[in-house]
Amino acid sequence: MEVFDKAELWSRDEIAHAQLTRLKTTIGRAAKCDFYGKRLADAGISAENFNDLSKLADLPFTTKDDLREQYPTGLLCVPKNEIVRMHCSSGTTGNPVAICHTRNDINSWADLMARCMFMVGVRSNDVFQNMSGYGLFTGGLGIHFGAERLGCMTIPAGAGNSRRQLKLVRDFGTTVVHILPSYALILAENLIEMGEDPRQIPIRIALVGAEPYTDAFRRRIEDLFDLKVYNSFGLSEMNGPGVAFECPEQNGLHIWEDAYIPEIIDPVTGKPCADGEIGELVLTSLCREGMPVLRYRTRDLTRFLPGDCVCGRRHRRMDRILGRADDMFIVKGVNIYPMQIEKVLMSFPEVGKNYLILLENDGIGDVLRVQVEIEKQHFVEDMRALHGLRDTIARRLRDEILVTPRVELVEGNTLLRAEGKAVRVVDNRKPK
Ligand code: ADP
Ligand code: ZN
Repeated sequence: MEVFDKAELWSRDEIAHAQLTRLKTTIGRAAKCDFYGKRLADAGISAENFNDLSKLADLPFTTKDDLREQYPTGLLCVPKNEIVRMHCSSGTTGNPVAICHTRNDINSWADLMARCMFMVGVRSNDVFQNMSGYGLFTGGLGIHFGAERLGCMTIPAGAGNSRRQLKLVRDFGTTVVHILPSYALILAENLIEMGEDPRQIPIRIALVGAEPYTDAFRRRIEDLFDLKVYNSFGLSEMNGPGVAFECPEQNGLHIWEDAYIPEIIDPVTGKPCADGEIGELVLTSLCREGMPVLRYRTRDLTRFLPGDCVCGRRHRRMDRILGRADDMFIVKGVNIYPMQIEKVLMSFPEVGKNYLILLENDGIGDVLRVQVEIEKQHFVEDMRALHGLRDTIARRLRDEILVTPRVELVEGNTLLRAEGKAVRVVDNRKPK
């Protein structure tokens, strides 16, 4: 198998060996900041005495709040002048977290990203257009430098503006894009409105990530554009994209275990989950100098996929992210994730490109409203057919989430579109 980096094909033994060596180095580096210095001392762990990977569990978890408290540079483990760049999380769920990178950090990140892209068939003769936001968001520069590392002609198009995206695709013959799932469907819709056929443009591969989406959503993007979609996972705290990526099998994302130690834990007890069991992903960085992060609770829910991938890579696979622990909402005592709703909606061909979940209180109790865009050709159908569709969707949703929602069908392109990551849930029950 041709690979960008031979670590991609390491055996389990080789991975474990590298993990131990790199974790020792990481512990030595992390001890240089007060925060980890104290935690490591309390746990009796030092670079010298750390000789068993299972001892990692003696360290407490690092939470998002820990990182927020250390903002902006509390976790810095190298002199400031060795830092060449900083990034922040998008702040989707609150105050930002800042991560500072040394030159080596930036290089190893670009290598990881190039590895992901090479794995799914991107080569130096591809033209790569990055349709994600730039700036502090790691989906911009993070993927950009990976594409350049591969030698692709790289177009930093940025987010939105479908007309300009299309012009760049046409003028430069773009073959690979990076795009948010929510924007991919919107782009398709805008192209169709401009009288274009999205299947006729030359893009053959889309790297899609940064927010949760279902497999049904993926198939929609693939069908609309006639291309292959590969799921890309990462988070600013662990550099950004390049942490885990789907291989050509499209059956789970390989976590690059030579660069990260993954754990999946029960979010309540903190105990490890068995393979196949859903829990919270916890990550430890192994190659970072500027700001190593140990046992970081991502709040992302997934599971290790049991068994080996047929592609031959031995880096463990995780399932696509089910959602963030923070995304879960409770209606009438039932825990619900937006992706459960998306899964049902996307199984209806009549359903269009966007949906919105509204939580309200009508004075008697919680009301779950689901607004669903319907494809134009179906919206002109008679009222009876539309009501029938609405009731069928409501019934199928109830079967999935055990709460009967109020489904409202709306015309395509009428729901709010987010600039960056999609807003799927608006909770109007909380006091403003
Ligand atoms: P923020 O948490 O503010 O959005 P980031 O920009 O660092 O900050 O985003 C990282 C988060 O985005 C992850 O923790 C995860 O919740 C989500 N994410 C990233 N990639 C994916 C993906 N492929 N599938 C689902 N969720 C993803
Ligand atoms: Zn594989």
